[in-house]
Amino acid sequence: MTNLAQPAVTKNQDLEVTIQDLTYEGMGVAKVAGFPLFIEDALPGEKMQVHVLKVQKQYGFAKVVKRLTDSPDRVAGADGAYIRTGIAPLSILAYPAQLKFKQRQIEELYKKARLAIDVLPTIGMKHPLGYRNKAQVPVRMVNGELQTGFYKKHSHDLVPIEDFLIQDPKIDHAIVVVRDLLRKYKVPAYDERTNRGVIRNIMVRRGHATRQMMIVLVSRTWQVPHLKDIVEEITLALPEVTSVVVNLNDKRTNVILGRKSKTIYGQDYLLDKLLGSEFQISPVSFYQVNPVQTEVLYTQAIEAAGLTGKETVIDAYSGIGTISLTMARHAKHVYGVEVVESAVRDAQANAARNHIKNVTFEVGKAEDVIQKWKDADLPVDVLMVDPPRKGLDKSFIDAVGYMKPPKIVYVSCNPATLARDLQLLAGFGYTAKQTQPVDMFPQTQHIESITALTLD
Ligand code: SAH
Repeated sequence: MTNLAQPAVTKNQDLEVTIQDLTYEGMGVAKVAGFPLFIEDALPGEKMQVHVLKVQKQYGFAKVVKRLTDSPDRVAGADGAYIRTGIAPLSILAYPAQLKFKQRQIEELYKKARLAIDVLPTIGMKHPLGYRNKAQVPVRMVNGELQTGFYKKHSHDLVPIEDFLIQDPKIDHAIVVVRDLLRKYKVPAYDERTNRGVIRNIMVRRGHATRQMMIVLVSRTWQVPHLKDIVEEITLALPEVTSVVVNLNDKRTNVILGRKSKTIYGQDYLLDKLLGSEFQISPVSFYQVNPVQTEVLYTQAIEAAGLTGKETVIDAYSGIGTISLTMARHAKHVYGVEVVESAVRDAQANAARNHIKNVTFEVGKAEDVIQKWKDADLPVDVLMVDPPRKGLDKSFIDAVGYMKPPKIVYVSCNPATLARDLQLLAGFGYTAKQTQPVDMFPQTQHIESITALTLD
């Protein structure tokens, strides 16, 4: 990187710029004598007057004062709240351009990492709105009134929101119903400053296929005033609700869910269906948030694995066993590993629920358990990985290098760690021809993809 002695702009300066690029977070980038300025609500090609908010050594931030020209890809009338809160930072960009943006992001990371892998066009959704099957919204007092909404980016200032754009509208409605009941029964909202108050968050999950709904009240105390009345009114107002859970989180933390939950009404889990199998999902277990695209993603992953019924498969980071059980129908045996205990219990119950016997699930860190499987000489044909954003642990990749499965299928939700891991795997002789992005998170900057690797 060039070491600029002096930034070319100063704080509070007003300038006219042309946007040249979009960052991976979906902010516009303008360059002033080579010095990058990041600007919200700005698209490549657009000319605008901006006001410089902040200047750092290598880059600065500015805000739009007046847009002088519009990009042909700009969506007219987009709501600024979705950008300010980071709910949908790409909602100003036309959907076909979002899909290209995601493809190009991966291409650029591969170029930097010197990886010669083709990136295919992103598989998008037909209706890229209202897709999320899960919501987690903070509950706070704003100007003396209990509100639900979303934080302004990089802050804990709550912006009250009723229509979340990308969430299942039935979930948006459920949140308003619960909010109004909390108001009616004067249940205190949590106060972060003092660590007092009661309700911190409302989490809602809805089964896209089953139309079941789970409401989780994340509370600082087990004692929730008028809980019985509130639950009764919830079930009357929302007939889809099949469980109401209180989750205890009494810590000063940004982590949303605590470790203990109590079912107040109905089942301990939500049921949903994917690709013909039925899955139970406990409150703290991971479940893909875009059910329509999950089926596309899993179908691609299974195809990439090239299963014939004879293979031994490891599914690392297996969650509630969705990929493992879907693959088990086309493999000899699938071994899943997952760190969250309740997710593994769900996975085992899901195997029984779907009468699938050729699976084994273990609780533990993938990097530890894979070591054990390697030591036991498990004859692995396909290694499936679907890690969280931080990607694969270095020790996991080392174990793979010694285990040498002939095929790896890498499902990634972060192309930066994907590129890093593909470079490391290349060191052990693994190469890939192509990466297939699947848009799991329309209107947001998040990028999901699948890459099949083989051993040279
Ligand atoms: N394949 C699943 C889950 C993918 S999300 C699905 O498609 O639904 C990633 C999962 O990895 C989460 O369930 C998370 O709890 C788990 N996880 C995170 N770190 C882990 C680790 N070090 N070892 C094993 N699992 C881990």
